[in-house]
Amino acid sequence: MSTLQDSLRLVFARSIRSGEHFVMYLAHLLFYLEHQLLPRYWLWPSGLRPTIEGLGALVGSLGYVKSHCSSMPATTRFLPPKNVQALHGHFDHGTQGGLMAMLGLSGPGTEWVKARLARCPKCLEEDIADDGLPFWRRDHLVPGNLFCGYHGEPLCTPCDQCADFSKYQKYTRHAGFTCGCSLQAIPEAAALPTEVAELEIEMSRIGSRLLDENYLPHLNHGGIGNVVAARAVELGIVEGGFYRADRAAEVVQASRFRPLLERKGIVVARTQSYADLFKGKMVPRTPSATIALLAGLHPKWEDVEHAFEHIPTEVQKVQLVTRSLETRLTQRERKANWKQKNAEKYFTFYAKDYAKELKKNPDASHVELMRKLPHSAGFFITEESLAAAGYQVPNFHTSDSYYKRLDASFSQHVKAKANGFVDAGWKHRITRHALTRGHRMSTNYRHLLPHLPKTRDAIERLQETTTAWKQRVAAFNEQASM
Ligand SMILES: [Zn+2]
Ligand SMILES: [Zn+2]
Repeated sequence: MSTLQDSLRLVFARSIRSGEHFVMYLAHLLFYLEHQLLPRYWLWPSGLRPTIEGLGALVGSLGYVKSHCSSMPATTRFLPPKNVQALHGHFDHGTQGGLMAMLGLSGPGTEWVKARLARCPKCLEEDIADDGLPFWRRDHLVPGNLFCGYHGEPLCTPCDQCADFSKYQKYTRHAGFTCGCSLQAIPEAAALPTEVAELEIEMSRIGSRLLDENYLPHLNHGGIGNVVAARAVELGIVEGGFYRADRAAEVVQASRFRPLLERKGIVVARTQSYADLFKGKMVPRTPSATIALLAGLHPKWEDVEHAFEHIPTEVQKVQLVTRSLETRLTQRERKANWKQKNAEKYFTFYAKDYAKELKKNPDASHVELMRKLPHSAGFFITEESLAAAGYQVPNFHTSDSYYKRLDASFSQHVKAKANGFVDAGWKHRITRHALTRGHRMSTNYRHLLPHLPKTRDAIERLQETTTAWKQRVAAFNEQASM
């Protein structure tokens, strides 16, 4: 922020609005580098202190920007204090190592892959800055958000070209600017059945409120654990210090938030991590899963608000009754003997149940099927022993249908890209990179390719050799000159 050009630009710059996303504001002022518009940067910007101080009265203080123009007030609520500090350090001074892992955002399947420059058509009419142009509302840029929490409308994105912000930066200068295409509702939002859409809208409304740091200040990492633990005791999910998985499943089943809890990956199981979750020792890593959990454990969101009115108190620890080492050893031995003696009988018994579940759930993975069986089934049947006995065993973690769906969407993407390039007379060579770019899995698909035959074929078939490229461009130019 030191060159003459920069100072001149500042003279004509407009000031930031409360609720405006700071990085997108920088984009508006043209203070950005190409890499800064990649989702990871605009979601988790870093080293902004000097920029904010350089902008002075246009944006106010560093604290003002964080509170009113970033997602920090909501994000920090869900993190333990040490990570909150790291996140502030990242925002103020520069990249902090391991931050993405702390935020649960470090891989495919996590929420950052869904990051997109979404906007609400109604907000566009209301969110007008001093220069008469609509600004980017921070609420809509929270990954995973599908609806506007103010208007209940599905969020919208423009065409692929406008959305490819690494290539066409100018289309991101303000929220209303597109190449001339019209805004379309995010496909996931448009496809939801009404009752799930209503839950998503409620989630967005809650998410927007959580961006205000004065709203439920006690709704933070420590408080969440205490409220979940207290509610789990009230609902009988934790009884005498023991986690009751059946009861937890029952509560989730009966909850109006069930569809969302499942979508956010909370599928109650008889595992240590769910025991920790309901005892308040662990908080889900993504805010949306935590909000869904809190909402799912209470009849109405107002009840959650009530629970956080004051600092939530910790649930009294219950001393578990433990047996002496000697007793435990004899019991363990007895159990091992029993297991050995009955191994064959129970293998047949559980393997039959397994096959029945597979018939009922042909798309389930091995892990999902095992979750449907009683806990003790795991002592007798395993992926290997089932396969060895001639039983059909689906993929361990990911079901075949997941790959089928991914293959269909990815191969269509590749074909559409290729057609687009050919029609537009794209002057570069159509490479594997060009064909896959823009798809949600494009950064992480190579290890999946063995499962995606259609995509593999499409890439092989449609990527160009240098000769094919030159011929295509020549043919296009010839056509154009006629
Ligand atoms: Zn709106
Ligand atoms: Zn467009």
